[in-house]
Amino acid sequence: MTLNRRNFLGTGAFAAATLAAPMVRAASHGKPKVVVVGGGAGGATAARYIAKDSNGEIDVTLIEPTRMYYTCFFSNLYIGGFRELSSIGHSYGKLASEYGINVVHDWAIGVDRDAKTVSLAGGAKVPYDRLILSPGIDFVDGAVPGWDLSTQTKMPHAYKAGTQSELLKDQIMAMPEGGTYVMVAPPNPYRCPPGPYERVSMVAHVLKETNPTAKILIADPKDKFSKQALFEEGWQKHYGGMIERLGPDFGGGNVSVNADTMEVNIDGEIVKADVCNVIPAQKAGAICDAAALTEGNWAPVDGHNMQSRMDENIYILGDSSNQGDMPKSGYSANSQAKVAAMAVRGSLTGSRVFPAKYSNTCWSLIATDDGVKVGASYEPTDEKIASVSSFVSQTGEDADMRKRTYEESIGWYAGITSDMFG
Ligand SMILES: Cc1cc2nc3c(=O)[nH]c(=O)nc-3n(C[C@H](O)[C@H](O)[C@H](O)COP(=O)(O)OP(=O)(O)OC[C@H]3O[C@@H](n4cnc5c(N)ncnc54)[C@H](O)[C@@H]3O)c2cc1C
Repeated sequence: MTLNRRNFLGTGAFAAATLAAPMVRAASHGKPKVVVVGGGAGGATAARYIAKDSNGEIDVTLIEPTRMYYTCFFSNLYIGGFRELSSIGHSYGKLASEYGINVVHDWAIGVDRDAKTVSLAGGAKVPYDRLILSPGIDFVDGAVPGWDLSTQTKMPHAYKAGTQSELLKDQIMAMPEGGTYVMVAPPNPYRCPPGPYERVSMVAHVLKETNPTAKILIADPKDKFSKQALFEEGWQKHYGGMIERLGPDFGGGNVSVNADTMEVNIDGEIVKADVCNVIPAQKAGAICDAAALTEGNWAPVDGHNMQSRMDENIYILGDSSNQGDMPKSGYSANSQAKVAAMAVRGSLTGSRVFPAKYSNTCWSLIATDDGVKVGASYEPTDEKIASVSSFVSQTGEDADMRKRTYEESIGWYAGITSDMFG
């Protein structure tokens, strides 16, 4: 059968779809309908802002399979022992009870762009006037030979937070004395550019306390990485001799793994790993492909409003979007969500739409009270969202400044999660 955009992609969990299915809240009292797929940094924020600012004029449905969203942001701090897992879990209760959002816990499995409906794994079809997709990332098949989703319990990615984060932490705590943790780092572009290196810092922090002769090896396909000078300075200062990174010159980009034997082949050299954290190459969440909204691995959007370049009724936020200079971060997704929410409201109710402005800051913790940050402001051009000014922490900063930077990140976490979930 030839698939076109009126068909539903039938792979994996998606195969359970039935085509003749009831509408979810089909009769929405004549109000314009917005459907948001994905209740993370982009989707939850967009749903909340549209519901909050439209004063009941727009019917908002949020489709999200999980009842509890664990933020990837601060999941490294959980691995490092600075947070409890429960402290990074958030439910959708307030979005439903305080903002009147129709929260549907299900997978979106297809989009009929002509009929303007989203089909759900449970069999329903949800009609929309405007659709917002913020499904985060999926992994590129075959990116690390020997690894696929069936091996993720032996070699966790922990790049979607929750059980994967817990699994990785348990494996690290169970490492034998003097054992080896190997991280297979992803190629650009990927979710949270400093994320793998903050994670290495947090793994080193726990191992220094619990298993000080353990080693950390990073196989990295990239020549350079975000906040590199800051991380390398911190690793030398706090974890001297514990961390080794093999960049592409040393075969870091030529890696395969064997989850049965826990072996990592780095450019022909076999390393036996006690823990192997594989973070594969990434692409837009599968629903973007299913809706035929991608070009290559990502979904192109207009930086003025986050509208898909392929469908004027669809907006794509966060990690899935190919928007230009913004990093794939929770801060970016939240910032983009507010722009899209305003544009969607404007298109449905005639409310005023202001020119888009975006910002991002990514904080990383290297060791206790040793926080660093990088950030920028952005404005749209006709081609992309372009960086207009940026800042980054400096090497050699004093301890007070680093502590303040860490404290700032704690304030940011509280702020963004209440901006997302109310
Ligand atoms: C280790 C780590 C550390 C990080 N640290 C930071 C940080 O300090 N600061 C920062 O700003 N960012 C950080 N990030 C990045 C940040 O988590 C992501 O960039 C952000 O979550 C992207 O938001 P999103 O809305 O695109 O996707 P997500 O927040 O992942 O949300 C996607 C949601 O969509 C749902 N979904 C997917 N497919 C479907 C479907 N078919 N149907 C219905 N629902 C679906 C998922 O269940 C998920 O809840 C970090 C990431 C990692 C991995």
